[in-house]
Amino acid sequence: MSEFLQGELIERIDFSEDLGMFKFRIVGAQIPKFIPGQYATLGLEGEDGKIIWRPYSIVSSPYEPFLEFYIELVPHGKLTPRIWKLKVGDKIWIRPRIVGKFNLDTRAKKHLMVATVTGAAPYISAARTQRYDLENGKISEPHKFLIIHGASRSWELGIYRTELEELSKKVDWLVYIPTVSRPWEDTKWEGEVGRAEDIVRKYADQYGFTADETIGYVCGNPDMINNVKGVLKRARFPDDRIKEEKYY
Ligand SMILES: Cc1cc2nc3c(=O)[nH]c(=O)nc-3n(C[C@H](O)[C@H](O)[C@H](O)COP(=O)(O)OP(=O)(O)OC[C@H]3O[C@@H](n4cnc5c(N)ncnc54)[C@H](O)[C@@H]3O)c2cc1C
Repeated sequence: MSEFLQGELIERIDFSEDLGMFKFRIVGAQIPKFIPGQYATLGLEGEDGKIIWRPYSIVSSPYEPFLEFYIELVPHGKLTPRIWKLKVGDKIWIRPRIVGKFNLDTRAKKHLMVATVTGAAPYISAARTQRYDLENGKISEPHKFLIIHGASRSWELGIYRTELEELSKKVDWLVYIPTVSRPWEDTKWEGEVGRAEDIVRKYADQYGFTADETIGYVCGNPDMINNVKGVLKRARFPDDRIKEEKYY
């Protein structure tokens, strides 16, 4: 087993029965090198002793001393029900190579980032990293992010809604729009309503994230990805300026 890293669960926050944050430290080794937008491959043994592996986008920044994930339980899935049983102190396997191409495309300075629920992970990593780089003088001119974060109900956005709302109040390079598609199940919600694809054009236009200056990113649920790609194409985004990461 030594070809794999071991992660020890150091913190877990459940946002609902089927969504949560999982934070792991790497046991006896460094965190593998990665850039925001990439994913780690996590594994746990199945009944036959074989490891079940699945990819998960990393929420944390490479500057942080842990790997953080935003995970949805797929009730009949092979791996996530096993992840749901983990308690602080329990271990998970992590492949030593962190990979993926869903990273910031720096051909443009504006980045329109659209996600369903856990699909916000790559954007949170990018925002945390840019914040660190600015605060530590590593960069002086920030990229502008417009993050549209959709969920059925607001609590599914978990701690990340608070984190991104607070950051967006402090800095001028981040606009964060959480949106809820089932407001009748979330009657106290006073924010934006509708699916991510219903509101993306409105906010892209309002904040000036136009096709000539912007890269579009879509991450998470495949139906949302297809719908948002259609919206962006109609807004004249060329194919090579739309990036996607399908989770299933
Ligand atoms: C690049 C990449 C990054 C990913 N990052 C994340 C992440 O940050 N957080 C996260 O929660 N997941 C992420 N995923 C999805 C993850 O890898 C697993 O597919 C998911 O956790 C289900 O695993 P499972 O073994 O429990 O279910 P499986 O046994 O693999 O799946 C059972 C069935 O459920 C379907 N399915 C899988 N996921 C979902 C879902 N979310 N909703 C509805 N149906 C689904 C599958 O298509 C399959 O038919 C990512 C996937 C990819 C490709």
